[in-house]
Amino acid sequence: MFILMVLHASLYTAFFASEKRLVAIYSQSSGIGGIVAGFGFLSVVSSALVLRRIWYELFYVTHITSWVLAIVALGVHRPEIANKTLVVVLIAASMWFVDRVIRACRVLYYSTNNEARLYPLPDGSTKVVFKKVPSRTRPGKHCFIWIPAIRKFETHPFTIHGSSPVEFTVKARYGFTSDLHKYAAAHPGEAVTASIDGPYGTFPDPMEFDKIVLIAGGGGATFTFGIAVNVLERMHEDSPKDIVFIWSVRKHENLSWFREQLELLRTHVHSPKVSVSLYVTRAPSSTSDLPSGSESESTEQSGRSNTSSKDTESPPLSPAGSDPEKDAHRTAAPAARRPSSGAHGDSEREKEGAIETPAEHTGLAEKGSLKAAAAVAHTFFEHPVKLGRPDAASVIRDAVKTTPRDQRVLVAACGPDGLMRVVRDTTARLIVGDGPAVELHCEEFGW
Ligand SMILES: Cc1cc2nc3c(=O)[nH]c(=O)nc-3n(C[C@H](O)[C@H](O)[C@H](O)COP(=O)(O)OP(=O)(O)OC[C@H]3O[C@@H](n4cnc5c(N)ncnc54)[C@H](O)[C@@H]3O)c2cc1C
Repeated sequence: MFILMVLHASLYTAFFASEKRLVAIYSQSSGIGGIVAGFGFLSVVSSALVLRRIWYELFYVTHITSWVLAIVALGVHRPEIANKTLVVVLIAASMWFVDRVIRACRVLYYSTNNEARLYPLPDGSTKVVFKKVPSRTRPGKHCFIWIPAIRKFETHPFTIHGSSPVEFTVKARYGFTSDLHKYAAAHPGEAVTASIDGPYGTFPDPMEFDKIVLIAGGGGATFTFGIAVNVLERMHEDSPKDIVFIWSVRKHENLSWFREQLELLRTHVHSPKVSVSLYVTRAPSSTSDLPSGSESESTEQSGRSNTSSKDTESPPLSPAGSDPEKDAHRTAAPAARRPSSGAHGDSEREKEGAIETPAEHTGLAEKGSLKAAAAVAHTFFEHPVKLGRPDAASVIRDAVKTTPRDQRVLVAACGPDGLMRVVRDTTARLIVGDGPAVELHCEEFGW
């Protein structure tokens, strides 16, 4: 549409210039309206392409102001009802206006007698727990939250991962999220006036699948924990579902973002159907850096032993503060990629604790793989925690290949671009005529 508008403006400008009528046309109100509308739409598009990534708040104000200006100017450019342009402009303007009014009314309605409690989490994150939410909210969906103590005129989207009460985990960036964390750190557990608009977002109904593979990196786990909780809440006694849950974080302390959810995955009546694997890419400096709920384990290159920290003086962790991702990259020796078989958790790679190196994430693995060993460093709420990146491709392949043809597999992921690319490419290759039905859902935390 924008390209058509540019063509329209340039062709007419060239035509009027050739007729020597340019000044006369562009000094009329309809001509001025056209110029203003053109620059208004240019600002709408360029702010979305450039400014949005640099400074969201400035983008938001510029985008909305330019849109209103462009629509009004378009009406001035073609004011005659008879040629229908004004009708189209009025329809577009009223759709946008009605949407804004509905959202504002919802925010106003859910601000009555509502509050959110803010809890600081390690590594700059914040847990937001709402008192009152719309009835259709479900873990895995997202809502826009409004906290006037932080920003009076902004709402931001976050994914629900706990349903009773409704919770969000917010990772600090620079603007709203950073100020939210500072506020929570200064007033931990304090209730603030808040409101909510939503829920939004659609994803495949996990209850329609026999096996669910959930893969997340960092804060993307808000989505996968949401789905896992959603399924556990709706599972029947004899439900045949299997859930494979993989979560990778940079630091051990990040694991405590979702303590309650990890505890739920361990203690729920259906927890035997859930296989949880946690990965940390940066080793802690000492055991005191491990979040509470951790148990250290002795490690071997080719397996794991279940000796807890109570039995060992000092757990065999990587050198202080080292990053196995980088170490693997520096020291990994070429090794053949072994075929994996069996269910997730029983595969050769799983037994060996092989990790996916950065090279594998970029696709080098397919050409001549590098391989580095990772071991179970400790457990967190009894879930094994390994050092290094998960081999997402093997996990997905194992899960799909061990599923009978007449069953359905859902692969859902949320996380950094590299991880999402691996998930997308691997899953796409596994959608074949003589295998189980496979569906992929990649949740993006951005527009
Ligand atoms: C559907 C969806 C679900 C999300 N769920 C979560 C979640 O559960 N947990 C979490 O930590 N983050 C989530 N995010 C990302 C989160 O909304 C942004 O990180 C947050 O809005 C950044 O705010 P800020 O002022 O700190 O941004 P800044 O630091 O100013 O900008 C950081 C980045 O966030 C983007 N951004 C800023 N404001 C918004 C906004 N209102 N809407 C969309 N993008 C924005 C900017 O384009 C920029 O790329 C989700 C995003 C989307 C679109």
